[in-house]
Amino acid sequence: MKIKADYANAPQWKELSIKSRLPEQLQCLDELAHNMWWAWNYEARNLFKSLDEKLYEEVGHNPVMLLERLSYDRKEAVVKDKALMKKVNDVYAKFRAYMDVKPDATRPSVAYFCMEYGLNQALKIYSGGLGMLAGDYLKEASDSNVDLCAVGFLYRFGYFTQSLSMDGQQIAKYDAQNFNSLPIERELDADGNPVVVDVPYMNYQVHAYVWRVNVGRIKLYLLDTDNEMNSEFDKPITHSLYGGDWENRLKQEILLGIGGILALKKLGVTKDIYHCNEGHAALCNLQRLCDYVESGLTYNQALELVRASSLYTVHTPVPAGHDYFDEALFGKYMGGYPERLGLTWDEFIGMGRQNPDDHSERFCLSTFACNTCQEVNGVSKLHGWVSQKMFAPVWAGYYPEENHVGYVTNGVHLPTWTATEWRKVYDKYFDPSFMGDQSNEDIWHAIYNVPDAEIWNTRMALKQKLVKYIREKFTQSWLKNQGDPARVVSLLERINPNALMIGFCRRFATYKRAHLLFTDLERLSKIVNDPEHPVLFFFSGKAHPADGAGQGLIKRIFEISQRPEFLGKIIFLEDYDMQLARRLVSGVDIWMNTPTRPLEASGTSGEKAEMNGVVNLSVLDGWWVEGYREGAGWALPQERTYDNQSYQDQLDATTIYNLLENEIIPLYYDRTKKGYSEDWIKVVKNSIATIAPHYTMKRQLDDYYEKFYNKQAKRFKKLAANGNKLAKEIALWKENVAERWDAIHVVSKDDAALYNGGETGRDFKLTYVIDEQGLDDAIGLELVALKDNLEGGDHEIYSIHEFKVVGHEGNNYTFEAKVEPVKAGTFRTCVRMYPKNKELPHRMDFCYVKWLD
Ligand SMILES: *Cc1c(COP(=O)(O)O)cnc(C)c1O
Repeated sequence: MKIKADYANAPQWKELSIKSRLPEQLQCLDELAHNMWWAWNYEARNLFKSLDEKLYEEVGHNPVMLLERLSYDRKEAVVKDKALMKKVNDVYAKFRAYMDVKPDATRPSVAYFCMEYGLNQALKIYSGGLGMLAGDYLKEASDSNVDLCAVGFLYRFGYFTQSLSMDGQQIAKYDAQNFNSLPIERELDADGNPVVVDVPYMNYQVHAYVWRVNVGRIKLYLLDTDNEMNSEFDKPITHSLYGGDWENRLKQEILLGIGGILALKKLGVTKDIYHCNEGHAALCNLQRLCDYVESGLTYNQALELVRASSLYTVHTPVPAGHDYFDEALFGKYMGGYPERLGLTWDEFIGMGRQNPDDHSERFCLSTFACNTCQEVNGVSKLHGWVSQKMFAPVWAGYYPEENHVGYVTNGVHLPTWTATEWRKVYDKYFDPSFMGDQSNEDIWHAIYNVPDAEIWNTRMALKQKLVKYIREKFTQSWLKNQGDPARVVSLLERINPNALMIGFCRRFATYKRAHLLFTDLERLSKIVNDPEHPVLFFFSGKAHPADGAGQGLIKRIFEISQRPEFLGKIIFLEDYDMQLARRLVSGVDIWMNTPTRPLEASGTSGEKAEMNGVVNLSVLDGWWVEGYREGAGWALPQERTYDNQSYQDQLDATTIYNLLENEIIPLYYDRTKKGYSEDWIKVVKNSIATIAPHYTMKRQLDDYYEKFYNKQAKRFKKLAANGNKLAKEIALWKENVAERWDAIHVVSKDDAALYNGGETGRDFKLTYVIDEQGLDDAIGLELVALKDNLEGGDHEIYSIHEFKVVGHEGNNYTFEAKVEPVKAGTFRTCVRMYPKNKELPHRMDFCYVKWLD
């Protein structure tokens, strides 16, 4: 036999993970580490830290990795350390007591879907505000003890970490996460095998593992396609957040929505309400529709049930920010669905079009969400209104102010974002019911009983902590990347904790206008270099790797920060993440935000600041429109003065300089013999007492229940009772109306008054006789009067008068309206006909409208 030069087959690697064994007495730490409860419990974090302080820093405060790497000797020592063991047992007892509470079965249960979750920097499955909001929501759901579970992705690479080159160019680095060292657990089936969800894609399946994050009492399920069961084409679906092309985005959205529902089904989880947090998740409604249809309902019946139990929260204020898919790409993946639903392709894709008959329109997930969710909401009062206008084309026939889009203003999770120093102040002075009653402003008013010196000392301690953190965190990387060691050292030394410190930290999207402050560099230099009244600015934030303009902004700010006059006065801090955010929102004196109105849907970092006695200086946009109180922060006016953006920018910049020079700096430095400004403390106290109580995540969660979940769950129950009896009735009724809609017509009318004009105080009467085509009182009429808005051809509704049915003969219903004009002027009027049924939640639910001649 010929002997080959070499002969070997390829190894089949098997993943073998060896766990570090913990002594019996420390087993409970493993359970603690695998529940994110520690992320908002400072005693638990302190406990992990005290196991090995140096290692705790090295592993980035990740307790799972900490336990994995804890040396044998150290474990032995811990077990022998009586004081430390008492701490272990105390924290564990507290955790168990928390966990053993059963969820409140009286409130509706919720399945929550989102692309990202910001729970802690150790779990890189978030990029910015949306994730932060979702993470905070789960923590509060746990604290508030509601029955909620959530679905998202376990990203292999997550979002990037940021560093800057010597000339300020953003460098994005994607580090793979080792799933075994994360505070997560694999979801296993009854036989101990990993749960795998099979998700249909075209003519094959993608297989996703399911991981579970224990967020206190809440379960967050994360799907993961980066495994050996999938092809190289599909593994990357869960590689990175908002990365890849449109095809990958569609594949992600299929996984989140359709895969998410399939995962819950596999786990045997059903909930009352399905909440799409942002349009990305909207395809969960598609899977639910398929499930109902496959259980024997018609598409229209299924839609009644799905809509009733679905809520869509929109976070994006401009249409361009939403996800649209070309018909070809969408068809490639979704081509099989119409048949499953009993629809034609055009009917199906039409669900994602504002005008279903317009074949040039791309499929928009947000429009699909609007059409398949009974309720839609924006994330602040102003953004609710912006969303009403943005989505108005979905419900033709109604004006923006008439549609049902509501709002819940975003909040933040108090225990996560409040510095321990403040938690201790609150514990000492506030009523013990505080944590469970966070929205109660009366409790917060106890802040006025705290001595000024204590407030000041707390503020100073946090400022010093921030400066210390910056020196520790950035010395190495700056020495490495920013050249000239002498300058780096002098920069770090120059950071003055006694200066008035102002933070501007957030995603570098151009609408947030980070450049505003740099409109007049000479003036800015005077402000920061006043030897008596020094001022210091911190900037921090990432720009999306595809956002050249955002990266340009970072570069410009970095360059300015390197000029001699700004060195150590304007400082850019790389790699804004939750940990840096926590230090900054509690460590500076002022939190600044300068978005272009009205593009900041809510913003939440300013709310975090409020809980730490940090005062906001912000454009009246997003949450701050509602949050601002006189004497408790500063506001740039809401009204736009110029159409030209650069004039507006200049005006806003001047306003900021003026505020700083004339109000803020003098107030901050108006120090008495005691070493602080009493008037400044007053502002701090006012903002804690009057603003913070209204922007907690508890308030937000309660709002979702009161405004949406409760009423939707109640209605859904009614629809689904007795074998979906009412859902079927409504579907049938809608079908009947839709069939006859074009034939329903005016038989006779008396609308002369509309042509003759009227007088204030003198009634006029309108009469219409309508042939309802065999329907029984299924039609409503109303007189709509518009007030012409002189500018821009806009109009505003002046009044709506409902007609009354005064009788009918066979099919012919007589409608009458008595109108008493109270205001003189010219109005445009028309009579609107709509389907009427008291079982509908709102008009948009069945959006047929006919304007009568
Ligand atoms: C809070 C937070 C955000 C969101 O802040 P906005 O004010 O909404 O821009 C983004 N990133 C991190 C790390 C945060 O902590």
